[in-house]
Amino acid sequence: MIAAIRGTQDILPGAVERWQFVEATACRVFEQYGYAEIRTPIIEREELFAKGTGETTDIVQKEMYAFTDKDGERITLRPEATPSLVRAFVEHALEQGMAVPKVYTIGPMFRRERPQKGRYRQFHQLDVEVFGVEDPSVDGEVIDVAWTLIRELGITGVELAVNSVGCPDCRPAFSAALVAALGGDVARLCGDCQRRAVTNPLRIFDCKVPADQPVIDALPHTVDYLCDACRAHFDAVLRYLDLFGIPCTVSHRLVRGLDYYTRTTFEVLAGGIGAQSAVLGGGRYDGLVRHLGGPDRVGIGFAAGIERLVLALPDALALPEKRPDVFVAALGDPARESALALLRDLRRAGLNAQIEYEGRSLKSQMKRADRLKAPLVFILGDDEIARGQVTVRRMAASAQESIPRETAVAFVKANR
Ligand code: ATP
Ligand code: MG
Repeated sequence: MIAAIRGTQDILPGAVERWQFVEATACRVFEQYGYAEIRTPIIEREELFAKGTGETTDIVQKEMYAFTDKDGERITLRPEATPSLVRAFVEHALEQGMAVPKVYTIGPMFRRERPQKGRYRQFHQLDVEVFGVEDPSVDGEVIDVAWTLIRELGITGVELAVNSVGCPDCRPAFSAALVAALGGDVARLCGDCQRRAVTNPLRIFDCKVPADQPVIDALPHTVDYLCDACRAHFDAVLRYLDLFGIPCTVSHRLVRGLDYYTRTTFEVLAGGIGAQSAVLGGGRYDGLVRHLGGPDRVGIGFAAGIERLVLALPDALALPEKRPDVFVAALGDPARESALALLRDLRRAGLNAQIEYEGRSLKSQMKRADRLKAPLVFILGDDEIARGQVTVRRMAASAQESIPRETAVAFVKANR
């Protein structure tokens, strides 16, 4: 037996219905808000993420599935969707065809992390992005999309955290304040944090090492160092959330682990799904499009982890039961061809009709119908065929009746 790779999962019938529900709900909500789907490749040039996600991030430094292709090109499995969507936005000049480029994508991402509950090496994201709108009402809209998605999925017990990380104008003063506040404590922090203190001090807030937390909790807050424009933007975002009736808390720890985030950051945490409780996270990335060689356009978006959303779904989810509309049974070999023709007619009419492929006895066929939970069974034998009739058994009542063959499709439609 060759087993699946560590950190990957098969999503089997019985579990996949919840995935289908999450994906269908997401598409419905995103389309309702005017977002258009984009599908981008799973493999991209490594430099797209080195530049877009950031050279100093754990994702790029440790977690990418990157390799040299046979022609010498450096390629990677994508670890996140945003840089790909920015690339597509620039490469296809999407702003020329779309009044407001509002896009979403759904698909697998790959990061070589330590697998655990809610954390995998192949995982799946729903990703939403808006390009070119600086007005804080779009921050409000994007968070509202995320909030509506959570509500439509029936997920309760969630918390929205928001923050502002400022912009290139106010960030240097904050970074300096951070380093000053850390002072000699840097030496007491973990190795990663010591590295972050030099390369990107803001990332220290990402640290999950328990021993580091008391030092980190005492650090200054980004919101106290915002320039006037960033302050006004953040206040407006909070006002819109209030207007939309979306409760939130301001979390100074929320800096996101990625280089290109500016101003608004947000995260939704779900209770009861274990330590990996962030079901979605996002924010603004006003410098990314230009950084990736595009025009000077701002951007904002979020990514939700489907595995974690599925974990957070209510247990008693009212998913439509999957069962056939009708089962077709044949009495004896000659009737089998008539049964197959009836099966075809039912299917062409859009009905879910099933048959037993190999079991020939009526008993084994009825057993299969029962296992499939078919409410109706059509029985065709030589008798029925001679009379142009079909015998109908209603499984719930175990009652039987006879109907004309040509009314069979209409009968199922009326009795579904
Ligand atoms: P975390 O702090 O949990 O590592 P992150 O900051 O790396 O999250 P993002 O890169 O913003 O997360 O991705 C957005 C969402 O994707 C997360 O909120 C989470 O739901 C999901 N996600 C990220 N990494 C994984 C993973 N390895 N396995 C499953 N889901 C993931
Ligand atoms: Mg992570």
